Amino acid sequence: MIDIHTYMLALGIGNISFAVLMVAFIRDTEPSPGLRFWTCARLVTGATQLLAFARPQLGLPVLALVEALGWFIGWALEVAAFCTFFEVRNWKRYAIPIAGLALVAAACIVPLEMTSYGELVGLVACVFALSTISTAFVLLSPRLKNPTLLQRIIGVNNGVFGAAIASWAVGAFLRGELNMTEADGHQMAGYISGYMLMIVNGFGFLLMSKQRNDAVLKRLATLDDLTGLLNRRAFLARANEARLLALRLRKPITLLMIDIDHFKRLNDRFGHASGDEALVLFARAAGGSLREHDILGRMGGEEFALAMPGTDLEGALQAAERLRQATMAICLPSCGNSYEMTVSIGVVVIEANEELPAALARADRALYQAKRNGRNRVELGEAVRRVA
Ligand code: GH3
Ligand code: MG
Ligand code: MG
Repeated sequence: MIDIHTYMLALGIGNISFAVLMVAFIRDTEPSPGLRFWTCARLVTGATQLLAFARPQLGLPVLALVEALGWFIGWALEVAAFCTFFEVRNWKRYAIPIAGLALVAAACIVPLEMTSYGELVGLVACVFALSTISTAFVLLSPRLKNPTLLQRIIGVNNGVFGAAIASWAVGAFLRGELNMTEADGHQMAGYISGYMLMIVNGFGFLLMSKQRNDAVLKRLATLDDLTGLLNRRAFLARANEARLLALRLRKPITLLMIDIDHFKRLNDRFGHASGDEALVLFARAAGGSLREHDILGRMGGEEFALAMPGTDLEGALQAAERLRQATMAICLPSCGNSYEMTVSIGVVVIEANEELPAALARADRALYQAKRNGRNRVELGEAVRRVA
């Protein structure tokens, strides 16, 4: 059987090792929200566990208080890390008074009566059970936005640990025997799930942060900052995938190149901010008139491309006309009624085995034909020239 001191030593070494790795990680990386709190929590909790291991040998009564404070501060930092990570609003307003009260309570209780090592561990166990059960509650809540499997696993681990340690501590308190030298089955369940918690939470929080950073990076790499549409690179990749799928399924796929007319005039007359506003409103209007599978991207400046898998020429011409009219209906608040936005559109059907760049070039030529023919119009691209 494992005794509490060996267990505390193992946990302490584990937490301090995590903390060392995280300090090194944070030093050279921009940490994601909550990671600093998490690192401090590992450091304080690990140091407290090492103190819990050494305290009986040191025999200094004041260390009981230091240990109790260490548990509470470590716990508070962990709560702070989760609250920051999940962007819980106003958490400081509740957490700081609760942590303050807990600290005062610990400072009053520990030196007076709770000097027995078993009672101290029992008290700490209750606090940890409460915090881990609340963490599990947050992570397993159906209200959590887009929960990942990772978050659910961490939630289950917190719940299992909370339940195991609560049943042990409450049972031991009720029986009035908090003998920490010999571990019974109940206690073993708490030990094992606590050890798992250190590993799962330690790695888990880091992985959750990484998952969030990766999602941010992916968004930055694929979306246009201003309009939120796909950027050129992401559009080309998605449109090409759609082209290959349409080819395999023998379905049509059409391509539209869209350019806002006289955009430079808008910038020159009303300022760059109005131009930006126009781009955002156009993206919103265009996005609103599309089907789920349509792929819209900003190719650069005031130029957009739209790939419509499963849509034939007739459908594409109708969509282009809808888009042209929706653009004319856009009202730019910063320009009053003195500006009417229009677009010119070139439409082509991507032919079997025609590469995407070739189809884009044809759509572009159709677009410039629309410009030459007076703007605010839709023009059909010429057919692919076949070599005899
Ligand atoms: P046309 O009808 O022939 O398309 O004329 P145009 O004025 O729309 O086209 P031109 O290529 O002459 O000018 C495009 C302008 O778009 C020039 C550039 O300053 C502006 N522009 C490009 N990107 C942005 C942007 O992100 N925000 C704003 N406000 N303007 C931009
Ligand atoms: Mg233009
Ligand atoms: Mg242009």
